Amino acid sequence: MIDNNIFHNKKVTFHTLGCKLNFAETSAIGKKMSDEGFVKVRVGEQADVCVINTCSVTDTADRKCRQAISRLNRQHPNAIMVVTGCYAQLKPEEISKIEGVDLVLGSNEKFSILEYMRGLDTEKPAEIHTTKMNQIHEFKPSCSRDDRTRYFLKVQDGCDYYCTYCTIPFARGRSRSASVAETVEMALEAINAGAKEIVLTGVNIGDFGVHTDENFSDLVKALDRIDRDVRFRISSIEPNLLTDEIIEYVVHSKHIMPHFHIPLQSGTNEVLKLMKRKYDRELFAHKVEKIKTLMPHAFIGVDVIVGVRGETDELFEESCRFINSLDISQLHVFTYSERAGTKMLDIEQNTPVAERKKRSDILHLLSDKKTKTFYESQKGKTSPVLWESRHNGENMLGFTNNYVRVERPFDKNRVNTVEEVKLGEWNEERSALMITE
Ligand code: SF4
Repeated sequence: MIDNNIFHNKKVTFHTLGCKLNFAETSAIGKKMSDEGFVKVRVGEQADVCVINTCSVTDTADRKCRQAISRLNRQHPNAIMVVTGCYAQLKPEEISKIEGVDLVLGSNEKFSILEYMRGLDTEKPAEIHTTKMNQIHEFKPSCSRDDRTRYFLKVQDGCDYYCTYCTIPFARGRSRSASVAETVEMALEAINAGAKEIVLTGVNIGDFGVHTDENFSDLVKALDRIDRDVRFRISSIEPNLLTDEIIEYVVHSKHIMPHFHIPLQSGTNEVLKLMKRKYDRELFAHKVEKIKTLMPHAFIGVDVIVGVRGETDELFEESCRFINSLDISQLHVFTYSERAGTKMLDIEQNTPVAERKKRSDILHLLSDKKTKTFYESQKGKTSPVLWESRHNGENMLGFTNNYVRVERPFDKNRVNTVEEVKLGEWNEERSALMITE
């Protein structure tokens, strides 16, 4: 039986899988626990509590979560094992049966971890606490710093879209967010803690304020009014929610970087319909053209899923031709995997796994070509770079406003500072990095 007082000085370890949102949330859970007296384990120490924040985006993600739970159980055999996150929300029974698991918390319960740990009887089978998705309405803001220099601010959670291949709405519930004022407050807290760059994250961030009278454009403008030295990046935003108003605003904004990440998923309208996406490829092409006309230097990253049911060889080829025609900088290629409970399983035709892999390889090559063309176009330009703490011993890394990755000889005094630099040669050997002169 856990009692209140023993939280003090107890050692906890966290393991997070999946997206930046999960990392931001683990950070918020960690803050709650340290406020109650928990301390993080150091290397080689035994933990009293292990918290695993899971992901369930693919079958592989599920498998990695199970492996992580088993590994932590071996490393910390006497620890209380708490499992939360998307996999825990979707398959709590399955997780509760894994050896060593004591407590399974759903998406709505993860922030009340201490309440559930009080009174937990570890001699009994694992306890499960989850809430049905349609009953989750509360939004919990979170912010985390990554192992580089950036902060991730969770501005929105959940999704109302129900794309046919995706389980996220079942794992994270309805779309919801805090108010603009609360979100600006969170951003200021991060800036006061030293943030020079904050990435706005969420499941469907363009949907910010969908159930209030505010919207994502209001948030972008309010953050841009902050009178501090900071850069904001907008993470993945649905093309139909990336309004022309937002694009036009970014052109003259002080803090919002000319860097866009837009999910396309397929370059044919047939497959977009099968996926139940809320736009066609003509709208997508318009957004890319609008950005590049107003900001020719803007970086545009694009998500694509290959091998979904219904994507024939011909449709894939047509998709490639469309993607190739777009003036974009990088592709994030995902390989489709079947997810229980999704509508896409009703589509009969299936693309063999080997063919999915082949399509992924083709798009990775196309991505390399796009990135190289974009980087070459930036050569000789002058741009502010935020230097990160990451380095390879010899060189340190940084990113320009428009997300060009650059290197210079390591200098610890430059970490988390912004410096105006001239962009030098493309270096193929060093993973295609730009080296500053
Ligand atoms: S927009 Fe579609 S793909 Fe993205 S989280 Fe929502 S349902 Fe999933």
